Amino acid sequence: MKKIFITRKIPLITPDMLRKHFHVDLNPENVALPKEKLIEIVHEYDGILTMIPDRLTSEVLSHAKNLKVISNFAAGLDNIDLNYAKERGITVHNCPETVTNSTADATFAVFLSFLRKIPQGQRFVWDNLWKGWDPCSFLGEDLPGKTFGIIGFGRIGQAVARRALGFDLNVIVYQRTPKPIDDPRIKAVSLEEMYETVDYLSLHTPLTDETRHMINYETIKKMKKRPIIINMARGPVVHTDDLLRALQENLLRGAALDVIDPEPISGDHPICHLDNCLVVPHIGTSTSDCREIMAKAAAQNLITALNHAER
Ligand code: NAP
Repeated sequence: MKKIFITRKIPLITPDMLRKHFHVDLNPENVALPKEKLIEIVHEYDGILTMIPDRLTSEVLSHAKNLKVISNFAAGLDNIDLNYAKERGITVHNCPETVTNSTADATFAVFLSFLRKIPQGQRFVWDNLWKGWDPCSFLGEDLPGKTFGIIGFGRIGQAVARRALGFDLNVIVYQRTPKPIDDPRIKAVSLEEMYETVDYLSLHTPLTDETRHMINYETIKKMKKRPIIINMARGPVVHTDDLLRALQENLLRGAALDVIDPEPISGDHPICHLDNCLVVPHIGTSTSDCREIMAKAAAQNLITALNHAER
């Protein structure tokens, strides 16, 4: 019987699904495994179900013996050295279809929380500072007629665009590979036009060599309208030190970050203490519904791929 390993505690349905097909071992703890343990696992098992914090570098994967399949519990695959896995004949799978709506919803949750100063409002009540209605405090911004830009117009980018249209925003998108857009209200623009015209810039690309540090001090300086940047992609798409500098220099009105580089970031980091920045701990897919369908899809990917590998 083939042996598989699940690297983190995930919804119970997954081990049960997998036990019908394989011998299953798992990490019972809700903590990421150290590199040394990952090395042992890739050496011993035929398949693994991995999470975003598991760094499957070429160094780790060089210890693989029987490993045929990696099923990542995520849409992104930037935690895995895909080229090296391919060289070693290991197939890699993700579950992007399962996370689109929860991540698009979270984009607006994080963005609107920042824009309407929800965390500050909650802290104000907790600190017992609420003494009466005030026409001058917690002033945010209205959305209708403002320009909302999307870089990375794939599954999540398109789902975010549909939500943005519902808020009467003007939606512009940058497409690396131009493709037909089925809604005439969405306009494709160049990156230069995007930077010059956006009021809000929402990032939804994968993390690749091309997108790493795509948003840096130089690109931010091109952003004429001091936009608010929303990062729901991966932390390193934005250069953290450059973003910090731009926020301190008021080149931006703000940043709403579900992801950041590094992750986790220390609560002592200066970017976590700016009034014009909201950082939340990578919670884009954090709904119990989404986590359950992600888990089923990741388990099914492992079953299909390992059964296929047997033939
Ligand atoms: P997707 O459907 O593959 O869409 C990605 C889009 O990004 C594609 O349209 C792709 O265009 C575009 N793109 C790639 N490189 C680009 C570049 N250099 N410049 C501009 N556009 C570029 O993926 P998805 O399901 O929407 O997910 C996108 C990413 O979101 C994932 O890879 C993951 O890292 C992140 N994510 C984050 C969370 C979270 O919790 N915050 C949750 C889910 C996903 P082409 O057609 O040109 O390739």
